[in-house]
Amino acid sequence: MEARTEIIMIGAAGRMGRTICALAQSEDAFELVGAVDAPGKLEGLASLGCKLSAKLEDLLPLAPKAVLVDFTAPAASLENARIAGRHGRAIVIGTTGLNPEQNGELAELAKAAPVFWSANMSIGVNVLMRILPELAKALGPQYDLEMVEIHHRHKKDSPSGTALSLGEAIASARDWNLQDVRCSARDGLIGERPEREIGIQAIRGGDVVGVHTVYFLGPGERIEVSHQAHSRENFAQGALRAARWLNGQKPGRLYCMQDTFQA
Ligand code: NAD
Repeated sequence: MEARTEIIMIGAAGRMGRTICALAQSEDAFELVGAVDAPGKLEGLASLGCKLSAKLEDLLPLAPKAVLVDFTAPAASLENARIAGRHGRAIVIGTTGLNPEQNGELAELAKAAPVFWSANMSIGVNVLMRILPELAKALGPQYDLEMVEIHHRHKKDSPSGTALSLGEAIASARDWNLQDVRCSARDGLIGERPEREIGIQAIRGGDVVGVHTVYFLGPGERIEVSHQAHSRENFAQGALRAARWLNGQKPGRLYCMQDTFQA
């Protein structure tokens, strides 16, 4: 029997943190050994029955084999990746909204300790990531590429990290750089749509877990490919799958969900 993968959950009191903790505790393959969140939130985590702290570094010596799983906020995730690097520990990060400098630093840190980052850990979205460029190529340049994403009212970043990753995937099919062609605001007398453009629009409200719809708009027809997350559990499943995969991997480059499919 394979050994259990030990997990320290950072951001344990958050929406994703709570879901991942519950899943890890319900599955034999995992053991939740520690949970980290802001000092005022630790009391609410007592029922987890694992070691709690507001400081990741306090927990590391108590759980020398644990993989760190972080769903917090960009600056916090980066700081936790630095701590993981100093201690040679593997870290899975699901936080979105990192800027290019922060992404660059993660890639640097990944050379010294195993670091995994994915804006969306669901199987469905990651399969789409592979298939959408094929679809864009098969349809050809006459088809305009657009996307709409919907998320709950508490989401802080826009467009979503998933929309940006899907956007990069379809941009790559045209040999475009998403940063050069993305349009996320249309207002006023904006003129005709340029050919070299990918529109990504965001809707926010209610408790929507996540919807991403990619449109291929051509002459006389359109194709819509839509992914709808029904709950946070599929992201949590992906995060645990990533932690199990990352455990024992060598550092070298920033790993992502696609790597777990190739194993
Ligand atoms: P949330 O606001 O509900 O939870 C974040 C938690 O992190 C909070 O409890 C907060 O107190 C804690 N936190 C923040 N800074 C901290 C720090 N320095 N140390 C310890 N704890 C800290 O947010 P959420 O909905 O759980 O989402 C978290 C992140 O995950 C967001 O960036 C979101 O976009 C992303 N997300 C990713 C995926 C994915 O599949 N990769 C899926 C859903 C959400």
